Amino acid sequence: MTITSETKIAIDARVRAFIAQQHGLFIDGAPCAAHSTRRLDVFDPSTGEVLTSVADADASDVGRAVASARAAFEQRVWSGLRPAERERILLRLADVLEAHAEELAQLETLNQGKSINTARAIEVGASVEYVRYMAGWATKLGGETLDVSIPFPPGARYTAFTRKEPVGVVAGIVPWNFPLMIAVWKLIPALAAGCTIVIKPSPETPLTALRLAELAIEAGVPAGVFNVVTGGRECGAALAAHRDIAKISFTGSTPTGKLIGTAAVQNMTRFSLELGGKNPAVMLADVDVDQAVQGALAGGFLNQGQVCAAVSRIYVHRSKYRQIADGLADVARSMTLGPGLDPHAQINPLVSAQHRARVEEHIARARAEGLRFLAGGTRVDAPGYYVRPTVIADVPAGASIIRDEVFGPVLALVPFDDTRDALRLANDSPYGLAASLWTNDLRAAMNLIGRIDAGTVWVNCHVPLDPSMPFGGYKQSGIGREFGKYAVEGFTETKSVCIAH
Ligand code: NAD
Repeated sequence: MTITSETKIAIDARVRAFIAQQHGLFIDGAPCAAHSTRRLDVFDPSTGEVLTSVADADASDVGRAVASARAAFEQRVWSGLRPAERERILLRLADVLEAHAEELAQLETLNQGKSINTARAIEVGASVEYVRYMAGWATKLGGETLDVSIPFPPGARYTAFTRKEPVGVVAGIVPWNFPLMIAVWKLIPALAAGCTIVIKPSPETPLTALRLAELAIEAGVPAGVFNVVTGGRECGAALAAHRDIAKISFTGSTPTGKLIGTAAVQNMTRFSLELGGKNPAVMLADVDVDQAVQGALAGGFLNQGQVCAAVSRIYVHRSKYRQIADGLADVARSMTLGPGLDPHAQINPLVSAQHRARVEEHIARARAEGLRFLAGGTRVDAPGYYVRPTVIADVPAGASIIRDEVFGPVLALVPFDDTRDALRLANDSPYGLAASLWTNDLRAAMNLIGRIDAGTVWVNCHVPLDPSMPFGGYKQSGIGREFGKYAVEGFTETKSVCIAH
């Protein structure tokens, strides 16, 4: 397998200009220098070279950003707009993002390493769709009128109703796998609800959030409503513990999510956590082999497996096991590796040297446990953070590769004879983010769907999301839901009003 880079696309001049800037923070509607003098290098994962650097914000920088968001909230510069005005500005933001689609996609590919195809279609394309969908919630949020029965004093009459009010200043803490899209997942429902926000992108991938803030101003989002602080753990912890944050919306790993939840409870800050996954696919005896192979590849190797909902454990009925294992291994062995800017490369680098080392450790442990590798599992001898697409067969239930979240291009296969065993194995995980069933037997599918411990169950597909479909985890995969009305309601408080008349 070789690294291909012959068909790399040319980089847009605006992308080069943006990268070359001395990046600071984005507070009060404009880029500004951080107080902190520490800097964080930002790398190109396809070469391992430094692309640029950003500020490593400290607690005083976080304080400035929160103060700006709080002032904007209290002065009602955003929540005081008519809902239709907020909706119109968010729709304009979708248009602005679309106008800058190629620039944003290239910036993300250069920084995150992902395929330009994925960056165009998902990072930017799906974000634009999400903005348009969520913008509409600004005008559709509402409470209820309640026919109350309060019996005293005799003869009194009451009418009660509820109001959905913006919760206040939101902290959006974002991981590195889909930096622009996950920032948008937090920003837009928070703004639709009338909140103001401080976003902290991951230190590995801070660039598109900074650009998104500039574009939001261009679209008409008032200054102070959307602020960005860049930094690492210290910056995130300061934001999560800040007393003026009313709600934390976090996406990231389960250990960090637990720290955030603990910090939030100290201030009674509301929080939602979208965390890790170890997502099973269960393929029954009647499975369509070609469809299952294609689906598992798409669901397992999208973004090099750096997808929280990626399929990583595949349980296949023994009658189809060999065919599916061979099909997956054949394609995995034939996939071309290359930089994200080469639209023909099928596997791109992982996000960082540190993350590649983590994935390689998982693979080394699987080798040490004597597991059977059908594809991949050997080091790529080239610059850039590449890991070969890897398929491991006959994995026993106790193996670490089937228990731990790898977050890389690694599929673990297990045969089964009885569907009840498959269900038990699929649920035998501390995680419960997503799962898929592969069958055309409607009765079997309907019986299993309700018994799988996962926030999303796909049938004959794995990984498609839609802004209207609630997304979130059971068990250690999180608390709360994003997408749909759940997302926007998560940025509100419900106030009861009771009127005596
Ligand atoms: P991470 O938990 O290391 O970091 C996530 C964010 O939290 C980063 O911005 C980081 O700087 C910040 N952070 C780190 N320590 C903090 C602290 N003490 N207080 C506040 N913030 C802190 O996760 P990651 O490595 O960036 O992302 C990979 C993980 O994210 C995987 O486990 C993956 O499954 C998960 N993920 C989940 C979803 C989902 O929707 N469920 C989506 C994408 C990624």
